Amino acid sequence: MKELKGIAASLGFAIGPVFLYEREEIKIEECQDKDVSVEWQRFVDAQQTAKEQISDIYEHVKNESGEEQAEIFSAQLMILDDPDLMDQVKSVLESKRINIESALHEAIEGYANTLEMLEDEYLKARALDIRDVGNRVLRILLGIAESPTEYLKEASIILADDLTPSDTVLISKDLILGFCIAQGGATSHTAILARGLGLPAVVGAGEDVLKVKNGNKVILDGSDGLVFIDPSNDMVKTYTEKIKHFNQVMKESRVKAKEPAITLDGHQVEVVANIGNVESAKAAVEFGAEGVGLLRTEFLYLERSNLPTEEEQYQSYKAIVEPFGKNPVILRTLDIGGDKELSYLSLPKEANPFLGVRAIRLCFARPDLFKPQLRAALRAADGKDLKIMFPMVATVDEVRQARAILEECQQELKSERVAFARKVDIGIMIEIPAAAIMSDILAKEIDFFSIGTNDLSQYTMAADRTNANVANIASSFQPSVLRLVKMVIDAAHKEGKWVGMCGELAGEPVAIPILLGLGLDEFSMNPPAIPIAKQIIRSISKEQSKEIADLVLTLENSEQVQTYVRDLLPIVNL
Ligand code: PEP
Ligand code: MG
Repeated sequence: MKELKGIAASLGFAIGPVFLYEREEIKIEECQDKDVSVEWQRFVDAQQTAKEQISDIYEHVKNESGEEQAEIFSAQLMILDDPDLMDQVKSVLESKRINIESALHEAIEGYANTLEMLEDEYLKARALDIRDVGNRVLRILLGIAESPTEYLKEASIILADDLTPSDTVLISKDLILGFCIAQGGATSHTAILARGLGLPAVVGAGEDVLKVKNGNKVILDGSDGLVFIDPSNDMVKTYTEKIKHFNQVMKESRVKAKEPAITLDGHQVEVVANIGNVESAKAAVEFGAEGVGLLRTEFLYLERSNLPTEEEQYQSYKAIVEPFGKNPVILRTLDIGGDKELSYLSLPKEANPFLGVRAIRLCFARPDLFKPQLRAALRAADGKDLKIMFPMVATVDEVRQARAILEECQQELKSERVAFARKVDIGIMIEIPAAAIMSDILAKEIDFFSIGTNDLSQYTMAADRTNANVANIASSFQPSVLRLVKMVIDAAHKEGKWVGMCGELAGEPVAIPILLGLGLDEFSMNPPAIPIAKQIIRSISKEQSKEIADLVLTLENSEQVQTYVRDLLPIVNL
């Protein structure tokens, strides 16, 4: 038996076979003197298979996310039948008598390059769709799976070097027992997505992850950040018991998931969800979310290959708000940058993307991105409790600038006679130390704060949230981070404003008693974490939590903080 130590990224355990997630590249070698009719027939067959695949995706997306979202796939079906494209493929094939893979590649590139040179933004964006469709047909011709998980036949534990947020979005949950990746930190977006799926995950387990063979049996311990390869029978027995206990606790907490979170001495806090799309909105309600504390709108952009229009965004936001009825939904404006790249935006490479033109900074630089989103949000907020929140705010001026652009959008909608919300609550994320330090002044400018501990920790500790080698330094349990949290809560309360937290710390069982004691008003987390968070809140009094928070603020390091709470409150040990 071999043991790998990584970072605990998502609670829970799994036992099962390994599936190594490796992307296969499309490599094309040109072959001459081919039989044109044979090659053309190969193309026609592959085109038919591609149509069937895209139609299936279309149906799936339509059922899960609605017609608007699915439209991109009906457009892709049209590309597959585009007579101009067919003519180009045929003419390359007939003139060069090469293999169909090479002919198709050449035709696709020629066609896409021509479109890219046009002025029209819409036609430019079609180039990406054409490449996407072309690559699908090439993969079919070359026998390459669309996603490595297509080869999955039985429920498995995924091991990979790294998974990008878009990989994780595309992975279907059905056959996956959990994840372990070589790279990444506990608050990297891959870890967050694993938590959103309610799957156990270990990140930052190092290169050795890739030495494990496909099919090897492993135990994944997402609560302690461990992976056991070829475990002994005794170990399997121990973990089978742990899984039983974990499932039992989860089941019990699920029974009361929709009841409020009230402490033993009658103090109620809001427990809401972090979500990224319509699917997770529906799941969040089932897990007992009393609203949304963070809608990561960038996932609507990451799930597709071109920019969503204002109308598409409006439809999505409306569909997301719907399951929450009168409950609040906080829409965070686009946070692209850092580890969330949007390939189709072709943004310039930066040496330090986490310190670069990210989130609100990008939105200020690109009103063509920002304004359609704000307009869509304002329209969706009409008659609903939809609040707008700006990410990565560092200065007071930025809040004023964002508010001015929002007001400009309201004016536009008014003169266009489009229905929109005239009164919307505006909040900002506190995720840059500068904002925490200025929180007394910022509190006068806004309706609420939401503390983003994932970034607040990395920027406070100067430790990249995606780098496994500095994961312990980047911990949100660092007393320095907790002191900033206290500072922000106190500053907001002084101005009569409420404070939420949408960083991963809010859903950490060990952190919940501390945050309650610091006076946090709203806890926002990945939906599967909600039932247990509510159980923890119900198990203590506000008074006791205050004592815990006071003591924790006198400690020296993150380990001491966690050990203290774990020893005091067994319920947090999951
Ligand atoms: C955060 O930084 O804590 C946060 C919630 O935002 P994100 O994880 O999307 O950067
Ligand atoms: Mg952040």
